[in-house]
Amino acid sequence: MFPDVFDPVYIIAVFFFIVGLHRMSHPLTARSGIVWAGWAMLLAILVTFLMPGLRNIPLIVIAVLIGGGIGWIAAERVAMTDMPQMVAIYNGMGGGAAGAIAAVELLRSTSVASLSALSVAGGLIGGISIAGSVVAFLKLQGWMRQKAITYPLQQPTNIAVLLLALVMGGFVVDPSIIGHAFNPLFPFFVFSIAFGFLMALPIGGADMPVIISLFNALTGLAVALDGFALTNFAMVVAGTLVGAAGSMLTLLMAKAMNRSIPNILFGAFGAKEEAAGEIKGSMKPIDADDVAVMLAYANTVIIAPGYGMAVAQAQQKVKELMDLLEARGVSVKFAIHPVAGRMPGHMNVLLAEAGVPYDHLFDRDEINQEFENTDVVLVIGANDVVNPAARRKGSPLYGMPILDVDRAKNVIVLKRGQGRGFSGVENELFYADNTKLLYGDAQESVSRLVQALKKL
Ligand code: NDP
Repeated sequence: MFPDVFDPVYIIAVFFFIVGLHRMSHPLTARSGIVWAGWAMLLAILVTFLMPGLRNIPLIVIAVLIGGGIGWIAAERVAMTDMPQMVAIYNGMGGGAAGAIAAVELLRSTSVASLSALSVAGGLIGGISIAGSVVAFLKLQGWMRQKAITYPLQQPTNIAVLLLALVMGGFVVDPSIIGHAFNPLFPFFVFSIAFGFLMALPIGGADMPVIISLFNALTGLAVALDGFALTNFAMVVAGTLVGAAGSMLTLLMAKAMNRSIPNILFGAFGAKEEAAGEIKGSMKPIDADDVAVMLAYANTVIIAPGYGMAVAQAQQKVKELMDLLEARGVSVKFAIHPVAGRMPGHMNVLLAEAGVPYDHLFDRDEINQEFENTDVVLVIGANDVVNPAARRKGSPLYGMPILDVDRAKNVIVLKRGQGRGFSGVENELFYADNTKLLYGDAQESVSRLVQALKKL
């Protein structure tokens, strides 16, 4: 079925992809996993140039150089905190490329209906994926309202647009249904792209990680479908790998948020403002010297990092703090929430880079029961993932499993001011009797703690 000469090289590329994916499953090997996958991609691209009958080679080379150049520069420049939007837009590019390939195949008007059907499926999913990913990018970049965007008859409108895309797709597969009345290809892509755009609008707030991985999975599926239509073995396998890994990540992230996929897609997280409930208590500031004393004489300390640690790039200082405390005999553990930060594994990657041993990191289920026996919890730039509002019915966060840091004896929160978390929901933890706030940029605050501890 597939061109014989390419099979051996494609098989090697696929093997590299699988090794890369496997290595990405652990923070310590993830970096080399990316390199393996990069070599796989290079191999697959190079061998494709040898394909007999390939035309427009100079144009292809120019396109590869322009795309590769933009990708290289963007990846060099992107701040770690902007990675999620970058991942979202690159997912989208994959979906867009799959859609474009499908469009070219359909324009060639192959007479085999089953191949047209595959291209239509690839085009539909690719179109949805690029449009939805662009919306996710705009929301994460802050260029569009980040919260869910809702309006009357939203779901019926979305369903109608999807149905129109499917009907047009049916006409593309079998044009005899409409004779020569009109060319359904253009409306098919317009409705597919429109559906992707509309589907992503009502998704916002804390649901964003799930939707990014869902579009990732869809992109993989679109590429795999195109691979079948083109009988390209590498595309089938690479697309299936991305689709499967993206689907698993989507399910894991949804589980981490305790939300079902339909609830995420149709639940419009945070569209309605939270009823302004009375939060009792006040936010009580504390200075670094006092926190240092508390830490120095504690038996157990748990650090709960979040997005603010990434913004402040405080991880090196946090590692220094950990070393100082451990040298004093204090037990230090890290509590990692699966959606802390702005991308899956964000905290793990930062802490691993800073040299925090992996056996110091505990996920929510492993560590939650330890908080009530913990002397001090240091919340470093985390907010939503430690918000006890998630336990209260009626809160937009209701049902999201959190780190139960509020159950510790003392909670110290490092943040700059009164800023809310990504979901925009006020956090009652900050007002609790056992919580004090160490205000300032997290890197500076942790540096002050390190200095103060050294003096003790
Ligand atoms: P949040 O976004 O909820 O809160 C971040 C906190 O950090 C804020 O309280 C902010 O307060 C503080 N902060 C920001 N900058 C600094 C700084 N320089 N120094 C000190 N503090 C700082 O973070 P969480 O990690 O708790 O939660 C992640 C949220 O992001 C969840 O809602 C999750 O669903 C969502 N999300 C996660 C993705 C993922 O894949 N992990 C992807 C997309 C969204 P202040 O401004 O006062 O300093």
